[in-house]
Amino acid sequence: MRGYLVAGNWKMNGSNAANAALVDGILAGAPATDQVELLVCPPFPYLAQVAQMVDGSRVMLGAQNVSVHESGAYTGETAGSMLADVGCSHIIVGHSERRALYGENSDIVAEKFRAAQSAGLTPILCVGETLEEREAGRTERVIDEQLDAALGAAGIAAFASAVIAYEPVWAIGTGMTATPEQAQDVHRHIRARLEAEDAGIAAGIRILYGGSVKGDNAGGLFSNPDIDGGLIGGASLKPADFLAIADAAAALV
Ligand code: PEP
Repeated sequence: MRGYLVAGNWKMNGSNAANAALVDGILAGAPATDQVELLVCPPFPYLAQVAQMVDGSRVMLGAQNVSVHESGAYTGETAGSMLADVGCSHIIVGHSERRALYGENSDIVAEKFRAAQSAGLTPILCVGETLEEREAGRTERVIDEQLDAALGAAGIAAFASAVIAYEPVWAIGTGMTATPEQAQDVHRHIRARLEAEDAGIAAGIRILYGGSVKGDNAGGLFSNPDIDGGLIGGASLKPADFLAIADAAAALV
């Protein structure tokens, strides 16, 4: 019922030429089922380029960050309305790199979650624990704190048009993927946390897994009942790698 979403977070990678080749390859090989949606999130300078390329296709466009402000004297910032204006439908908020490298705590992330929605965009709220937190048995507490900040700021109704990405920090870009069981356990916990607020919204929301997803492990992850696709970093930069993940999802529908 929820269908899969396979989202590529290009991070700070790309060029006009590389993006053109990447998007051409994705468009040429995207699985022909509407049960698997594809999303690409290029760096800001290339949003307009990629918007033009995916226009009219089934590949959607997202951004990697958003300002908490709507407009004004905020040098270097980009408003949600601008991202909507250039064709974005989604915005990643709270990626662990932004939390760790740019000081975005859960309150700031919650403001960004709200800013995305005020601009009519779907936030992809990233949550996840560090290795130290997992080993200390604190995974669920960390996830709850990250989730509750957005729930507190935006309310459960806001989750009717949001996506959550569970990304264990220790699995991002490390080649160490969570096992399907580890991922499913946390996804179930997240959905149960939302169920306590609103069962309908919990049943409808897509919860993606992120952290070293590749073509050969995607099927094992996505076949779990609470895993609705992936947020993909490294493997989103080559058409064949990204499409192998999309195909793994398509094989399950
Ligand atoms: C990410 O940065 O969101 C991510 C999941 O990266 P990778 O797939 O490279 O681990």
